[in-house]
Amino acid sequence: MTSRESLDRLFEYLRFPSISTQPEHSADVRACAAWLSDFLNGIGLAAGVHESGGHPIVLARNSHRADRRTVLLYGHYDVQPVDPMELWTSAPFDPVIRDGLIAARGATDNKGQTFAHLCGIASALEDGGELPVNLVVLIEGEEEIGSPSLPAFLESNREQLACDVVVISDTGMLGPGVPTLTYGLRGIAALEIEVRGPAIDLHSGIFGGAIANPITALARMLATLHDDHGAILVPGFCDAVRPIQAWEREAWAGLGHDAELLRVSGAPALAGETGFTPTERIWARPTIEINGIGGGYQGEGTKTVLPACAFAKLTCRLVPDQNPDTALDLLEAHLRRVSPEGVTITLTRGHSGAAYLADPHSGFGPAAQRALQRTFGGTVALIREGGSIPIVQSFLEILGVPTLLLGLALPDCNAHSPNETFPVENFGAGQRLNRVLLGEIANA
Ligand SMILES: [Zn+2]
Repeated sequence: MTSRESLDRLFEYLRFPSISTQPEHSADVRACAAWLSDFLNGIGLAAGVHESGGHPIVLARNSHRADRRTVLLYGHYDVQPVDPMELWTSAPFDPVIRDGLIAARGATDNKGQTFAHLCGIASALEDGGELPVNLVVLIEGEEEIGSPSLPAFLESNREQLACDVVVISDTGMLGPGVPTLTYGLRGIAALEIEVRGPAIDLHSGIFGGAIANPITALARMLATLHDDHGAILVPGFCDAVRPIQAWEREAWAGLGHDAELLRVSGAPALAGETGFTPTERIWARPTIEINGIGGGYQGEGTKTVLPACAFAKLTCRLVPDQNPDTALDLLEAHLRRVSPEGVTITLTRGHSGAAYLADPHSGFGPAAQRALQRTFGGTVALIREGGSIPIVQSFLEILGVPTLLLGLALPDCNAHSPNETFPVENFGAGQRLNRVLLGEIANA
């Protein structure tokens, strides 16, 4: 496949508005899966579309031999919604190349990154007719909505999906051209708090002073989550946190990542828990984040009410070895303990998943580092990420295998935002990386 052909096919792939969260796009999601399956059959793999209960899963494989390692390549063909539309320079599902960047929804997350691997596989099959490994390709359509069907699919197809290692390119590179191996991810646990006071919004003159205000109660509760220095105050919450290792502290200090965080965030200054660098706070410390808060009158002008209720949405980012259920138990117990008199609180748990950590110096880590080094040159950055990819934990728990996270996304790629981009250069590098990586894994 020439580079022109691979770009053309990527553009076809990017034209599907495969937005998994919007029911009006479910036919587009299915059409995208069918296209992908056709593409995979076309390059010489045996591919098919599989029902999962939700959006379908595309599976493909070469013919397997008992004397070879088996690699499972995972990706997702679904994308995030595109609004606000008016902020896009070009239409999200009409891909274009601007200044060496492919601009489209899904360009980086995750169609472009996965498709680079698929084109690498296509060219290897064209050149030699055979890959150095047994390959399983699994591309799902529900990653952006939390992969609800994938764990059950892995359970019921364990044998078909048996492998030695999972490869995913859905994480970031530290910077342009910097080979990056992500060996840790944070977990997540979500909780919603509802605080109820009076039966209805009351007149704040007739009742104010004698009836507890749910918004004040909620604000007081939320203010007990952290101390003045950014440390989490929920008793026991941080007990299971694994300390950062000395080699990690040293490796991360040399990456220049703190300055980059400030630049990309647009915030006036960095902040957070004393005793840790900003990078350490994101990669290896837990958080309890307030994602949303509401209640009372939100319209224009003044309305003198004493509101009936208030709510807040929280998500915790978790690190090894925190257990998501235990973390939520501790958080709930704390919130109940600090809830003031005169209100009732309801706590509702959302999704959760454990953190992931693999030693980059053992298993297939060195093979991955060699492949990155051969593809990009320079020193491989060993990083953790603050985000969560719960399926990585599912691969470990259900298939019993580790995952290599070889990200090709740049920090300013606008994933999930308007004007998402993926460098043409990274698309090419991803194809080369795939070929080198499969060879290194075969010989590891
Ligand atoms: Zn995403």
